[in-house]
Amino acid sequence: MPEGDTIFRAARTLHRALAGHVVTRFDTAYAPLARVHDDAPITGRTIDAVEAHGKHMVMRFSGDVTVAVAALSRAASGGAWRGPIVLRTHMRMHGSWHIYRPGERWQRPPREMRVLVGTADFVAVGFNVPDAEFEAAGDVGTRDPIARLGPNLLAPDFDAAEAVRRLQARGDVTIAEALLDQRALAGIGNVFKSEVLFEGGIEPFARVDTLDADRLSALVAIARRQLAANVGGATPGYGRRTTGRMAAGEGLWVYGRGGRPCRRCGTPISFAKQGFGARPTYWCPRCQQA
Ligand SMILES: [Zn+2]
Repeated sequence: MPEGDTIFRAARTLHRALAGHVVTRFDTAYAPLARVHDDAPITGRTIDAVEAHGKHMVMRFSGDVTVAVAALSRAASGGAWRGPIVLRTHMRMHGSWHIYRPGERWQRPPREMRVLVGTADFVAVGFNVPDAEFEAAGDVGTRDPIARLGPNLLAPDFDAAEAVRRLQARGDVTIAEALLDQRALAGIGNVFKSEVLFEGGIEPFARVDTLDADRLSALVAIARRQLAANVGGATPGYGRRTTGRMAAGEGLWVYGRGGRPCRRCGTPISFAKQGFGARPTYWCPRCQQA
């Protein structure tokens, strides 16, 4: 699953390419999106911005539209709705956005295209994006599912105390599962889950209610630092890194390193499948005993 830093980078790339430009082409494999486009064409509108909201990407379009409320899958009863709209997408496990020059060969088969937004200079293609809908612009961040998201680790106004409170509200689950819960704090995926817990010295199967507020605050701070470092540090060919080491294969503390020696103490790294979806967890049984 793409992590928060991936979405943030993708949104930034799309924003730079598309913002301020007029949509000349819109295409989609999804009927509800096509219906909105039929009612109120996306072509001819300006892309005002592309933003990351946790793991959601939001593309804002200029101008008011008048569409059936049902077409927006809005939490309201029937009739028409008038106002600006956004395209919200979520990558889930296999989705991705690519940006191409017009006529450039795509790196994925056209049958995997779900949404396409083109300008005179660029074509943005959402491949295998399973979750895509037009939303009333005023609903962004106020309705499901964004409304349910916890504080965004990459937001300038990130509220650490609120993130800790939301983790504490999940006292009866393991800390590894709580960190993946986007309603507690938004942006951590499976790689950073293991990396954050290693740096925090916390055993992944510890229940949240066994950890005091100071420990949870420390984890939140580590998560924020790790994600921020990876937003700025897209090192081509090297992938994510949390260790600060640049050498190939030394970028991560524990993730993907089952059975290999801990970089701090030499103990073999443990591996287990954990929680909903049996997501892999890696940890050092010696360094992470809290
Ligand atoms: Zn260790």
